[in-house]
Amino acid sequence: MPMKFKTLKCATLNLWKINTPIGHIEITCCESGLHSIIQTTVASPPDLSVKVSLVQGCIMDLSALVKEVLNWFTVYFKHPKATSSLCIPIICSVVLKSDFRKKAWLHLASEIQAGETVSYKKLAELIGNQGAVRAVGSAMSNNPISIIIPCHRVIKSNGDIGKYAGGFKNDVKKWLLEFERNS
Ligand SMILES: [Zn+2]
Repeated sequence: MPMKFKTLKCATLNLWKINTPIGHIEITCCESGLHSIIQTTVASPPDLSVKVSLVQGCIMDLSALVKEVLNWFTVYFKHPKATSSLCIPIICSVVLKSDFRKKAWLHLASEIQAGETVSYKKLAELIGNQGAVRAVGSAMSNNPISIIIPCHRVIKSNGDIGKYAGGFKNDVKKWLLEFERNS
């Protein structure tokens, strides 16, 4: 059974853990959609022969949403560019409560494909808030849905990759960008 815990806003959250080529990823969702996707362990170096699989939570209990997420990651680690033809799994509206962040996250997830990068400045322009570079930076560092909302594709205008997960996962960001570019 998946681990369950209560939140103030959504009745119950379910937690699942999957193994991937880059390490373990934790997924939480309520009945309305995803709450978070967080990489909890870092495989160093990443190993593309590792199959995306469930390590915590029961396969029999998989909701359609978790199946969709598993499928999304399976496709991603084989052909990252092919994820552009997949739907973005539904995200709970509680997570998308800030209009600005919602705009920045969803624009990124739907428009900036694997193999591409965008600067914080350009992303601010693309969502119609030219001056909001810092707010875009803050939206990226508070991204709850890692990889599916590809904040790793947002880099500084000078090409510097910036800080991923507070700088703790810069190697992961570099690896993901290279993997997406070369596949
Ligand atoms: Zn929810």
